[in-house]
Amino acid sequence: MPQTQKNPFIEAFEKRSFQTRDEAIPFDQLKLEHFVPALDFGIEKARKKIQQLKDNPAPADFDNTIIALETASEDYETVQSVYFNLFSAEASEELQALAKEISPKSAAFASEIALDDKLFARIKAVHESLGTANLNAEQVRLVEKYYKDFSRNGALLSPENKDKLRQIDQELSLLGPQFSENVLKATNAFELITDRKADLVGLPEGVIEAAAQDAERKGHPGKWLFNLQAPSFLPFMQYAQNRELRKKLWLAYNSRSFKDTFDNQEVVKKIVKLRHDRAQLLGFATHADFILSERMAQTPQQVMKFLTELLTPSKKAAERDIAELRAFKKSIDGNDEVMPWDFAYYSEKLKEKKYKFNDEELRPYFKLETVVEGVFEHARRLYGLTFKEVLDVPKYHPDVRTFEVREERTHNYIGLFYTDFFPRETKKGGAWMTAYREQGLFNGQVRRPHVSIVCNFTKPTASKPSLLTYDEVQTLFHEFGHALHGLLSQVSYRSLAGTNVYWDFVELPSQIMENWVKEKEGLDIFARHYQSNQPIPVELVEKIKKASQFQAGYYSMRQLQFGFLDMAWHQQDPSTIADVDTFENKVTEVTRVLPKVGGTNVSCSFSHIFAGGYSAGYYSYKWAEVLDADAFEYFKEAGLFDREVAEKFKAFILSRGGTEHPMELYKKFRGREPDPKALLRREGLMNI
Ligand SMILES: [Zn+2]
Repeated sequence: MPQTQKNPFIEAFEKRSFQTRDEAIPFDQLKLEHFVPALDFGIEKARKKIQQLKDNPAPADFDNTIIALETASEDYETVQSVYFNLFSAEASEELQALAKEISPKSAAFASEIALDDKLFARIKAVHESLGTANLNAEQVRLVEKYYKDFSRNGALLSPENKDKLRQIDQELSLLGPQFSENVLKATNAFELITDRKADLVGLPEGVIEAAAQDAERKGHPGKWLFNLQAPSFLPFMQYAQNRELRKKLWLAYNSRSFKDTFDNQEVVKKIVKLRHDRAQLLGFATHADFILSERMAQTPQQVMKFLTELLTPSKKAAERDIAELRAFKKSIDGNDEVMPWDFAYYSEKLKEKKYKFNDEELRPYFKLETVVEGVFEHARRLYGLTFKEVLDVPKYHPDVRTFEVREERTHNYIGLFYTDFFPRETKKGGAWMTAYREQGLFNGQVRRPHVSIVCNFTKPTASKPSLLTYDEVQTLFHEFGHALHGLLSQVSYRSLAGTNVYWDFVELPSQIMENWVKEKEGLDIFARHYQSNQPIPVELVEKIKKASQFQAGYYSMRQLQFGFLDMAWHQQDPSTIADVDTFENKVTEVTRVLPKVGGTNVSCSFSHIFAGGYSAGYYSYKWAEVLDADAFEYFKEAGLFDREVAEKFKAFILSRGGTEHPMELYKKFRGREPDPKALLRREGLMNI
């Protein structure tokens, strides 16, 4: 019997639907052996459709080219999305191993499309006729999206320059991993082994225990081993009383891959040069210009203006933070010298003195089920949504819960919502939102979305329900904000739906939700003691708020330093940069609040921008904070649950996906561009 008859994916693709509620993914029927044949089936089908599109004798237009391409890969995308979602959330070793087959097939298919000249010729023809075609704004945006995706990949270049571009991409694809490998090796090369108990003074029990285990594992039984990995390094800097050892660790950490065996100086120079060359080939002045042309911030000038606006007040506040820390150190030690390796240590002590509360005090007010009801109630008050648990939607794990989302007033169906809250060995760390089906045109109709949030929260025990930390509550609200962006999407095409927006805009819907749990009015909805049912005490809420402003100036300066450094590397012709460290010192001088220590260097281990996706994009951390602080002020002015402001947020932000430039959407919501002062106000950095 041919395999196709047994594969639930392929069966559904032939019938054009899964036989489940709203055609939800039939997780209960999927087996390992279904993925690769279904993927092959999907790719083959997509290839045929794209071939038909290219062979179409009719002149290229929106429907026969753009929509044909937008819908060509639906089956393939379904398999891919299910696979990669499970890869993160519920991956047995066997499922993980399938990636060796699935990832190269996906990558090859993606580049096959990206390099298809005949396909691009039709897209270009549609793009050229935009002026005379009768398309709405969203359709125009979709055409532009496809056109830009191809041209940013070199589709417009001469054959000779296309070759150059491939050559650059090839080299860059090796240099990124080389950069991270060097950082990893430099990180692993350092070990501090001690047999003196006195060196451990101040460290928490758990950290000491882990250090003993690490030493034992490395063949030093009875000793303690510390290294530069976060779980060892960070608590050491925070708690170890021995200043000399803190200094040793700090210096080792901050000189990784700088003038050592795993030096990254030449790698940095090569990367920035290739990026610059690539941008120039594509007609942009610099790499930053290239990246930012597809961002809300738009230009390097705009980013620099933004960072500079935050700089002066942040610097004043950071200087105040340091002065406070110096005085505090003097009160304990008799001297006020604060070096970088002192900062975390004394901050921890000062914080404890100023805001004495810990996670354990808060947990009893945050029983998971009550917090979930609380976040649903926020969605009801703000956006008129109801969440009803439904039991007939197939799940990939018994911990998953599924909800049907409707509009309270009209009873209109909004979508399906999955939650998956507890850690498992088969799940990645962290928390994220994802979709099994995005809103928009799919299988011939505009469909409602299936959205999921996956977290790693404190599990219930035999005697206690799941009681969340305050951080976990914020994480839940954050991911729920992304989920609302996916669920409330109201567009025509999936490529422009929900969270498919510029990435310096995508954290607005999520981060804004965290604001409600910093307000008494928001917390009062759900924060009740799980045994006594007493509401959370006002003093505790006040402490949470104050503690969130602790050393905000200093931390703002750190982020600004990374932001300026990233922009400096990417917004000029790097051929003029002779020495990595001299260059770094010059451009970070303005953001320095603690003394510069010789032999250390940030760039050589700045993986975010040299090995991750953050080049000319580090600013977006601060950018997103400004957006959510500024947007939330609007709610605060009108009332935390003001339906009119909420309606605008839904109409112009949550429902619009990427159908318009985010700055235009934001202005429609707020009546003006975002104001950085909103963040300064929230962090207590104004008028210092
Ligand atoms: Zn997020």
